[in-house]
Amino acid sequence: MQVSEQKIYAVLKSKFGFNEFKPGQLEIIHQLCRSQNVLAVLPTGTGKSLIYQLFSYLIEQPIIVISPLLSLIDDQIARLNRLGETAVIGLTSKLDYDQRQFALAHLKSYRFLYVSPEMANQPDVLQALSHMQCGLFVIDEAHCLSQWGPDFRPDYLKLKDIRKKLNYPTTLMLTATATKAVRLDILEKLAFRSDQVKQIIHSVDRSNIYLDVEHCRSAKQKDEKLLQLLQTLTGAGIIYFSSKKKASEIAALIGQKSERSVAVYHGDITPQDRYKIQQQFMQDKIDLICATSAFGMGIDKNNVRFVIHYHMPGNLEDYLQEIGRAGRDQKQSIAILLYAPGDEYIPSTLNLANIPSLANIELFFKNPASRPSFNTDERQLLMFYYNQHLDVHQVNQVFTDRQLSKQKSLAAMSGFVNTTTCLRTYLLNHFDETGVRHTEKCCGIDQATASITALKLDQSVVAKRSAKLTLRPWQEGLTQLFHQKPNT
Ligand code: ADP
Ligand code: MG
Repeated sequence: MQVSEQKIYAVLKSKFGFNEFKPGQLEIIHQLCRSQNVLAVLPTGTGKSLIYQLFSYLIEQPIIVISPLLSLIDDQIARLNRLGETAVIGLTSKLDYDQRQFALAHLKSYRFLYVSPEMANQPDVLQALSHMQCGLFVIDEAHCLSQWGPDFRPDYLKLKDIRKKLNYPTTLMLTATATKAVRLDILEKLAFRSDQVKQIIHSVDRSNIYLDVEHCRSAKQKDEKLLQLLQTLTGAGIIYFSSKKKASEIAALIGQKSERSVAVYHGDITPQDRYKIQQQFMQDKIDLICATSAFGMGIDKNNVRFVIHYHMPGNLEDYLQEIGRAGRDQKQSIAILLYAPGDEYIPSTLNLANIPSLANIELFFKNPASRPSFNTDERQLLMFYYNQHLDVHQVNQVFTDRQLSKQKSLAAMSGFVNTTTCLRTYLLNHFDETGVRHTEKCCGIDQATASITALKLDQSVVAKRSAKLTLRPWQEGLTQLFHQKPNT
C-alpha cells in the first residue's frame, strides 16, 4: 500500500492532535504499509498504541488487538472514545449473551476489536473473526506470550492457529520488555520464521528513572524505611507487593502513620472498586497505591513520581515493566526496591505455583474427562497439552524446562539486587544492551538516600488526604499469595 508521508502526518494531526512522531512510530507505520510483520520493542510510555491506531485510519479494514487484561482493554477503549472514536469494541467476558451476539454479527462495523486470547479462542468468536477481513493483527504486551503461555494462559499458545484461521494477516507484536531470547520465543510460538518479521528494537532504558536498592536487615526495618521514604518522596507513587495481605497491611500502616491518601489494589478488590481506585489515582485524588502486579499494565498516568517494590518481582522483565509506570511525562522519577534477606522465597514459591507435578500429569492423562479434584486452571492447562497430542513425559519436560527458566530469571533478579556496580548497567545488560555509562542521576549504588533528596521531585501535584476513599472493606485475612488469573 502506497501512502504519502504527508497523509500520515495529516492523520497524526487530525486524529491525535500531535505534530511529531515519537521515536519508532513512523518507522513501524511505514513497515506496516508494506504489509511487513513487525516485532517492536519500545520503552514504556513511547506511544505504542498510536502506531496501530493511526495505521487503522490509513486502511479501511478492522484491526484486531489481542490484549492481556480486561482493565487494559477498558482503558484503551476509553482513550479511543475520548479521541472521538466510537467504532471500538472489547470482546470480553463483560459482554452479556445478547451484546456478544450483536457484536459478533456486526464485527465489520468496528474499526478496533480488542480481544483477550481466551475470548479469541472461543469457537463462535473465532468463527466470526475469521469471516471478516482483518487489516492488522496486533499482539499488545507480546512478552505475555512467552511469559504466560506455557503454564498460565495456554490460549496464548493458540494465537498461531488463530493467525492461520484469519489467513495470516499482517501482524504487529508490541512490547516494552523482551530480551533476545524472549523475542525468539515469541516468534517461535507464533510459528514465524525469523525472516518473516522485521524486528525494531529501541533501548528499553528510561533514563529519567533513578534506580535504587535499599538493603534492610528485617521486614520491620523495611516498614520503617518505607515510611521514612514516603516522607521524602513527593507526588504520586505505586508500592508493589507480592502478597495481597501485606499490601493491605502496609496501606493501613501508611494510613495511620502519615498524611498521605492511600488505596489498596489487588485481585480480591471488586472490579467496581478497582475501577474507582484507578480513576481516582488518574485524577490525582489518591497519591499512593499499594498494589500487587494486578495493577498498572497499560495505565497511562503520566505523573507517577516513584515506584517502590516492597517485594522483589520474580524477574527483571516484570521489574522493568513495573518501574516503567513512573515518569511517563519524562520528568525525574525514582524506582526503589526494598530488600531484606530471604526475600527470594516469595518469587521462588510463586514460580512453582502453576507447575503441575508429574503425579498429577499422569493422573490427568489416564482419564482427562473426569478429574474433578483438579482446579479449573490446572485442568485447562493439561487439557491444552493433551489436545496437542503430547505424552506425559513431554508435558513434564515442558514444565521442567519452564521451572528452570524461571529460576534463571529469578537469579538475574537477585543479581540486580545484590550488584555492587551500576544498577542501570546491570539492568540494560540483561536486555542485551551494552555501552551503558553510570552517571550521577542514574542509580543509587553509592550514597542512595542523599541522592534521592537531591533529585528534587516535582511537587506540583500532591493529593490531599481529604480525598481519602470510601470503599467497601476488602477481604481481610488473605494469606494466599497473589497469582490468580487476570480477568479477561
Ligand atoms: P505505551 O503503550 O508505549 O506504553 P501508550 O500507547 O499508552 O504508550 O502512549 C503513552 C502516551 O503517549 C499516550 O498518552 C499517548 O497519547 C502519547 N503519545 C503517543 N504518541 C505520541 C506522539 N507522537 N506525540 C505525543 N504524545 C504521544
Ligand atoms: Mg501499551
